[in-house]
Amino acid sequence: MDRRRFLGLAAKGAVGAAALGVAGCEQAGVMPPDQVESAVSDDASLPTLAWQMATSWPPSLDTIFGGAKTVADQVSAMTSGKFTIQPRAAGELAPGLEVLNVVEQGAVPIGHTSAYYYIGKSPITTFGTTLPFGLTARQQNAWLYEAGGLEVLQEVYAARFNTIQFPAGNTGVQMGGWFNKEINSVADMKGLKMRIPGLGGQVMDRLGVTVQVLPAGEIFQALQTGAIDAAEWVGPYDDEKLSFHKAASFYYFPGWWEPGPTLEIQINLDEWNKLPEQYQEVLKTAAYTANTTMMARYDAKNPAALSRLINDADITLLPFPDDVLQAAEESAFELFDETAADDTDFGSILTEWSAFREEIQAWHGLAERGYLQYVGRSR
Ligand code: CA
Repeated sequence: MDRRRFLGLAAKGAVGAAALGVAGCEQAGVMPPDQVESAVSDDASLPTLAWQMATSWPPSLDTIFGGAKTVADQVSAMTSGKFTIQPRAAGELAPGLEVLNVVEQGAVPIGHTSAYYYIGKSPITTFGTTLPFGLTARQQNAWLYEAGGLEVLQEVYAARFNTIQFPAGNTGVQMGGWFNKEINSVADMKGLKMRIPGLGGQVMDRLGVTVQVLPAGEIFQALQTGAIDAAEWVGPYDDEKLSFHKAASFYYFPGWWEPGPTLEIQINLDEWNKLPEQYQEVLKTAAYTANTTMMARYDAKNPAALSRLINDADITLLPFPDDVLQAAEESAFELFDETAADDTDFGSILTEWSAFREEIQAWHGLAERGYLQYVGRSR
């Protein structure tokens, strides 16, 4: 969030004040929202807009589709209903894995999706979501917002996809997914057919897995019919909703390929440039709110869902064997280096990202891990 521009806007009236309230910054010295008139509703020059939003999600996933909904609700609330956005289920405006395609073409002005669904267009998109053995949600936010990550990715999106994007959700560390057999060593991965997207899928491929990418709504059937042997989605709350425990019984952790994946809104750059500055600020703030809200929602809902799965379903919860983790980590960093050799922009982002990763993991390894290890031991 660009704080100076943000606060400048706040002085003009309710858009900023409401936005500050949403972002939890009420102490910043602006008038409370109920004491100011809405600058947006009073400003006849601001257009009435009704956008349709393509998403990659079924609405039944209230956490992740909820990110799209939070953006829409906040934009409407901050513009007194002058600017509305209607999130649409995967498949309505575009197939779940083709949101960026329709936004890039301008067929749809805005989308809510995972950047790494589009690694076929550019491997750089993975930095917008996550990398195997990469950053946690907090580390990802720190890199994107405060260490130049978002800025450099926005340059890439503008140049390659005619699109601008903002983080608008995170799931936190994911689970390692559902398998129809026990995995005792890396050799057991060979020949498995697994649903897993992004670079994580490419790493699995190197471990001998046959990789498929399916949108959320198609995974259960593939797992149940045996078209695939294993599948990952997000974690207990979503996985329970998608009924994966009725199709496979071995539930693995951690999801080393997605330690803190960011979801994002993507906006066609021509549509973005046509927006008044106030609406651009509103969209940025709405995305920021969605980013925070989705993570909080997953953190609040996952523990109870995991308890239900363990207590009520006939499943076996297991950590990945050490040799799977080690082989995957080795393959992941080989893959990063090879990708960097093919794409110099990927390489320069990787260099910055790796330096950031090393520093923050050392810091969190000391403070966060030190604390959590103690708390875990004391229980
Ligand atoms: Ca996943």
